[in-house]
Amino acid sequence: MNNTETLANIPPIVARGAEWYRTLGTESSPGTKVMCLSGHVANAGNYEVPFGITFRDLIYGLAGGIRGGRTLKAILPSGASAPILAATDKVLDTRLTYEDVAALGSQLGSASIILMDETVDMSWVAMKTTHFFKHESCGKCTPCREGTYWMTHILDRVQAGGVQAADLALLSDVTHQIGGKCLCPLGDFATSAVVSSLKLFPADYEQHLAVAAAVPAKPAARAKVAQPVS
Ligand code: SF4
Repeated sequence: MNNTETLANIPPIVARGAEWYRTLGTESSPGTKVMCLSGHVANAGNYEVPFGITFRDLIYGLAGGIRGGRTLKAILPSGASAPILAATDKVLDTRLTYEDVAALGSQLGSASIILMDETVDMSWVAMKTTHFFKHESCGKCTPCREGTYWMTHILDRVQAGGVQAADLALLSDVTHQIGGKCLCPLGDFATSAVVSSLKLFPADYEQHLAVAAAVPAKPAARAKVAQPVS
């Protein structure tokens, strides 16, 4: 399958040759890539750059950093489909190639990079992506059809507040019932944001745990009232 970006690369390669194209990018990820930046970035848009630019140079060098001067919290390097990355120095200094992003445990994929600042609750992000995949599921295989239903069910309750630790364990268990058990990649994609956010941002989930019900105070001892002498 060829997408528009692939077809757009053909004319300059034909005109200048494959060797010229290979002078751009890296040995294993040659050429250029259109990086689509969205989310809390100052200057959202499509940036065509050689493979090998770092997240830091792309986000802070070309795209103006994070809107409002806030701190970058998380990166979704391939839209909703790939595992979320915490915006650590190691991640920011990683080169944008298929191999380097895979080495971080995620995927560059279509390079539809979504940036989340420090104000974002990553359990909310997982809820939103899961609703998307539940809608997209064709329903052919049970793990995807039922799993996305149950993940949205639990994640909606997380957002409503009052979940128990057991609910988060159940959410994790559901992701394992989906991963690697579906007919097409959508099932695995549906678990990416959930699994990675549970692992990297547990506090974002734990803040929604139910507070132990307040123990009612014992009634105050009744004062003995002296009885009138008859
Ligand atoms: S994994 Fe693919 S084939 Fe299976 S239900 Fe989901 S969308 Fe359909």
